[in-house]
Amino acid sequence: MMNVIEFQEKYGTEEQCREYLLKKRWPKGFVCPKCYHSEYFNVQSRNLFQCKACNHQVSVTAGTIMDKTRTPLAKWFLAFFLMAEDRSISSLMLAKRIGVAYYTAWTIRNKIRYMLGTRNIFTKPSKQQYKKSPVSLKRGRKKAASTKKSINYMDITKD
Ligand SMILES: [Zn+2]
Repeated sequence: MMNVIEFQEKYGTEEQCREYLLKKRWPKGFVCPKCYHSEYFNVQSRNLFQCKACNHQVSVTAGTIMDKTRTPLAKWFLAFFLMAEDRSISSLMLAKRIGVAYYTAWTIRNKIRYMLGTRNIFTKPSKQQYKKSPVSLKRGRKKAASTKKSINYMDITKD
């Protein structure tokens, strides 16, 4: 496992986190999920892509536990790192370590715990799912394991 300095060098900025997600989503470059066209515009922010052919929009975090987040990706990534190190970190401690409000940390923590159960970054729990107890999260594991687009979030924290 990387140490925190190495981790910050690799995933310390929004751009680095964004690049990581892009490579995972589109290893050979942008492909429109609707029409398979490969050219796009960036809309509003560099995190939103619009297909030049059909105008379908897709964000870099679509389908992940970070979907529609207002928290910077670098904070999410740091939370992945901290929770890989210590799964039992409290929401309060996580809030302090990544610099977000308590409720934000609580939500991030629950979503990451849900993802730890599925080991797939492209896992978007419903509100009920990520608020369930760890026992019911375990039960959901089999179903999620069959997801084809599988990304193990642990490869963020390994080297
Ligand atoms: Zn398209």
